[in-house]
Amino acid sequence: MTAIVLCGLLALQMILISGCTAKRTAVETMLQELNSSLQSVQQQSVDASEASIQASQAEAASIQASQAEAASIQASQAEAASIQASQAEAASIQASQAEAASIQASQAEAASIQASQAEAASIQASQAEAASIQASQAEAASIQASQEQAAQGVTSQPPEGHEGPWVGGRTVYLTFDDGPSYLTPQVLDILDRYQIKATFFVTYTDKPEIVPYYSEIVRRGHTIGIHTASHEYEQIYSSMDAFVADFDKIYNYVRDLTGVSCQLYRFPGGSTTGLNLGIRDQIKAWLQQRGIVYHDWNVVNGDGATVTADEAYHNVVDNIVQRTHPIVLMHDGVKKETTVEALPRIIETLQSWGFTFAPLDPSVEPIHHGINW
Ligand SMILES: [Zn+2]
Repeated sequence: MTAIVLCGLLALQMILISGCTAKRTAVETMLQELNSSLQSVQQQSVDASEASIQASQAEAASIQASQAEAASIQASQAEAASIQASQAEAASIQASQAEAASIQASQAEAASIQASQAEAASIQASQAEAASIQASQAEAASIQASQEQAAQGVTSQPPEGHEGPWVGGRTVYLTFDDGPSYLTPQVLDILDRYQIKATFFVTYTDKPEIVPYYSEIVRRGHTIGIHTASHEYEQIYSSMDAFVADFDKIYNYVRDLTGVSCQLYRFPGGSTTGLNLGIRDQIKAWLQQRGIVYHDWNVVNGDGATVTADEAYHNVVDNIVQRTHPIVLMHDGVKKETTVEALPRIIETLQSWGFTFAPLDPSVEPIHHGINW
């Protein structure tokens, strides 16, 4: 456009230089118009350039704004990254705290386990102590039982497989009153068979077939003691003179027959019979003065009345274990066949329970009715 306008102007100026005046005016007018157009075109070009520059500037500003925004975004992203880092650090701290808490919990658990172990050890110690105390108590009980048994005359243990009562070490004293009689040899033979010794509180008889038995009692190792000559209660206990007469008759008789001066005595009917009430204390004093010990009893076979052999057996074995110092009353006088019959069973049973048999002598503690029976 500009080049066209410039060419136009150049052509017109050539015409002017070479032309006529009329035409010169028209050309000048035309030239003016062309100049004006040129100026207008130039102005438009300037305006367009300025507008373009402004647009570029606006674009540049826009780009700057965008860059600023981008920078801002980057800053925001950096900040976000920083926040994330902080969060990660916080999470790490939390994790560390959690781990620390876990360690503390583990330590607490360990402490708890140690405490439990200590408690268990304490319980074990207590149990051991309790067991020790029980053992001591058992031992004490055993000692006490042994002492009680010893006090009851029991000093040994039963053989293996033993059944029934056991009184090992306890002594039983079998005594036979009112003999000798035709049954005395049978009693002596039974005692020999079991190799045991007993005591015979004798009465007076001069029957020739019986008289040898006094000596036979002594010869076989048994104890012979005085019972009575007549066994007539009313006569014996009627007075001290009557008593002494009866006593001396049998005492001297036995001494003459056997050579034994008897040291033991048994009251007819027992020391506490109502029949001797009037002179009982006098008799006891008289006996003591003579150095004679009297013996009652604390077990009977019941043959003072009529009993069967089975009754005689049970009267003894059913009641003897409760006696720590048993002295058994039986009779070898006339009509006491069931006594003889029961005797072997009685001996065998008492032996199986650990009894030892012995004869009385002055050193044996006597049983006195009303005092210690
Ligand atoms: Zn008698």
